Amino acid sequence: MTGKCTKYEALYTFGNDETLRQHVESCKDCREEQEIMDKVSNLLEEVKPYYRAKRIRTAKLKMACAVFAILISGTALGIVNFNTDISDIIKYGTTLSAEDYGFPVDSYGLLMVE
Ligand SMILES: [Zn+2]
Repeated sequence: MTGKCTKYEALYTFGNDETLRQHVESCKDCREEQEIMDKVSNLLEEVKPYYRAKRIRTAKLKMACAVFAILISGTALGIVNFNTDISDIIKYGTTLSAEDYGFPVDSYGLLMVE
């Protein structure tokens, strides 16, 4: 019983190109193995551009996230500075109602307009 030649992997990994080529030329099993390897590497060549495009998209996405985070933190600071309710909560621990400002209000705390 003659098994399938198993030298290909060893030659591919440890041998040089010349010994591999010589063996592949004289060995049918390894020639088939070589054809499969060629197909795989061709396939990888075809697929590579997609991976590259995906990597660029990921980089763009990261950039967009960073810009977004900067915008959000900038906006948050803007809200604290210009929205008096939030700055009141920070300063006094509660929002100031119209009554606290000394305006005339009804029982609902709403500004009374006469
Ligand atoms: Zn072989």
